[in-house]
Amino acid sequence: MSRLMLSRRQFLGTTAGFIALHPFSARAASNQAHLRIMETTDLHVHVFPYDYYADKPRDTVGLARTASIIKEIRDEATNSVLIDNGDFLQGNPMGDYIAYERGMKEGDMHPVITAMNTVGFDASTLGNHEFNYGLDFLMKSLAGADFPVVSANVALEQGSDPTKDKTLIKPYVILDREVTDGAGSTHPIKIGLIGFVPPQIMNWDRRHLEGNVQARDIVETAQAFVPEMKEQGCDLIIALSHSGIGDANHSDGMENASVPLAAIDGIDAVLTGHHHRVFPSSAYDGMAAVDTAKGTIHGKPAAMGGFWGSHLGLIDLMLERSGNEWKIVSHSAEARPISKRNEDRSITALVESQQDVLDSVQADHDATLAYVRRAVGKTDAPLHSYFALVADDPSVQIVSIAQLWYIEQMLKGTEYEGLPILSAAAPFKAGGRGGPEYFTDVPKGDVAIKNVSDLYLYPNTARAVLVTGQQVKDWLERSAGMFNQVEPGKADQVLLNPEFPSYNFDVIDGVTYQIDLSQPSMFTPKGEMANPGANRIVNLQFNGQPLDLNAKFVIATNNYRAGGGGKFPGALGDTIIFEGPDTNRDVIVRYIVEKGTISPKADANWSFAPLEGTSVLFDTGPKAADYTNDVKGVTIEPAGEGPDGFARFRIQL
Ligand code: MN
Ligand code: MG
Repeated sequence: MSRLMLSRRQFLGTTAGFIALHPFSARAASNQAHLRIMETTDLHVHVFPYDYYADKPRDTVGLARTASIIKEIRDEATNSVLIDNGDFLQGNPMGDYIAYERGMKEGDMHPVITAMNTVGFDASTLGNHEFNYGLDFLMKSLAGADFPVVSANVALEQGSDPTKDKTLIKPYVILDREVTDGAGSTHPIKIGLIGFVPPQIMNWDRRHLEGNVQARDIVETAQAFVPEMKEQGCDLIIALSHSGIGDANHSDGMENASVPLAAIDGIDAVLTGHHHRVFPSSAYDGMAAVDTAKGTIHGKPAAMGGFWGSHLGLIDLMLERSGNEWKIVSHSAEARPISKRNEDRSITALVESQQDVLDSVQADHDATLAYVRRAVGKTDAPLHSYFALVADDPSVQIVSIAQLWYIEQMLKGTEYEGLPILSAAAPFKAGGRGGPEYFTDVPKGDVAIKNVSDLYLYPNTARAVLVTGQQVKDWLERSAGMFNQVEPGKADQVLLNPEFPSYNFDVIDGVTYQIDLSQPSMFTPKGEMANPGANRIVNLQFNGQPLDLNAKFVIATNNYRAGGGGKFPGALGDTIIFEGPDTNRDVIVRYIVEKGTISPKADANWSFAPLEGTSVLFDTGPKAADYTNDVKGVTIEPAGEGPDGFARFRIQL
């Protein structure tokens, strides 16, 4: 790089400096051209600004909104390309509607592809979720794209090196474009785009991929292809890395490989994704080889446009022509949001939707609304959470069953296959500060997609941790902080500790246990050790035998818990053996769709230990009265009214 280039970069080195000078097409000298690279990533079928689970509009999502920023940039820029970085086919009920209900026949259009055609993309790559519905579904969906889709590290047949592979789709594409320079003259430019997906797809979508395709390491694949792309005359090579910004050191098969990828000679810019975060942003401060102020990885411009259409990633390149070659003389990167969160946590939309984008998928949007509102399966027991804090409960049980079903599939063929799998789940909607109507309540019979958000409130992703029997017990001791200590022989004591949130009341399925309320809690509601000698969890058994405290168990859970949320023993971030790409909600939807009829009968695997002549009171929703006789493992009787519209019940321990 010449001295001149360095001094330019120093002058224009900050994003803020660049913004002040926008639009800088006007500043391009006669031998220079300004090229803007726009990126969407992890759209997950979000076209409308709509939350189909909640069945209401949502200003934080939707390609129709991102398209307004794209239009703005196109209006002011002389030269631009628009790239999508993968994970477009799956991830909301519109995606499920197409996959599970309408289907993809030869010639069918997938709505997200229709919307992308309407916006006008120059290229896309595959994300890991493109494989969720199988290869046939994927290929039929891609057939409708008006733009090339590239992926270099997924092969139908592997050759002696990556360039000899018979790849599933084109590994790369070279866009033959013209750019206009500062003097208004046009010049040809060859922009090479090469795509990568985490090789973990082979594990995550084993049932679709095993025996059909193979995935290679991202960095190894890039190293093989980049010289070939150079030989074919690429002026610029942009990596479409559906992979996060992670460790700077390359390790074989790494999932988040964007940093070592950016280090490869010949790659000029990196579009990233998969993390569902924003780059440049403080989320990546302090990482090796990453400069969030300059928007670079290994000195090369990089961007990540959030997820669900939340942001548009934008890389600006000032190119200079010398002879027949283009060189990057300066660059900047940013991510522009479609909405902002105010101090009171309310959301303000920053852009309107593009009407033509909405119109292009209006029919599929309407069909999706009908889909989320109608039955996709049946439940042969009511799914309610009125007693989730006092007895084993069907709304928690169904989450537990679905997680177990999923993690069992995911651990197949791994070193953990065959270990006993337990499943931890907590009631999210269980009254409390949410009020007397804040409960899950799905009657026996039809289950709609809308109901699934009722069962699983948060967009958590699935995880598995590996723990000891002792950690299983301590995990349950942490959970049992839900309850006040009870004095044996005394009537009508208050059961629930209002300082303890219900989402930290994990029930663990796969073991049986009782909770002795006469003991103090081992932990404070915040998870600090309070009484090391306390022993609320009694008769803890696995397979009808006392639980071996030294045995190993896998626990299916979510990213919040596994990453240390609630400070549960055995779940402090260091025991994770499986990080699923799928949300727990997706897992439940898949489970219901596959089973047709679900049987979420609580198995009463936990209960309170009997305490002679002792009773406790708790408050729940008044509709609980319909179900008091169904609850197993505990005798519940009405005890009048509670405060603020709650109903009060009594349990004889
Ligand atoms: Mn994604
Ligand atoms: Mg259970």
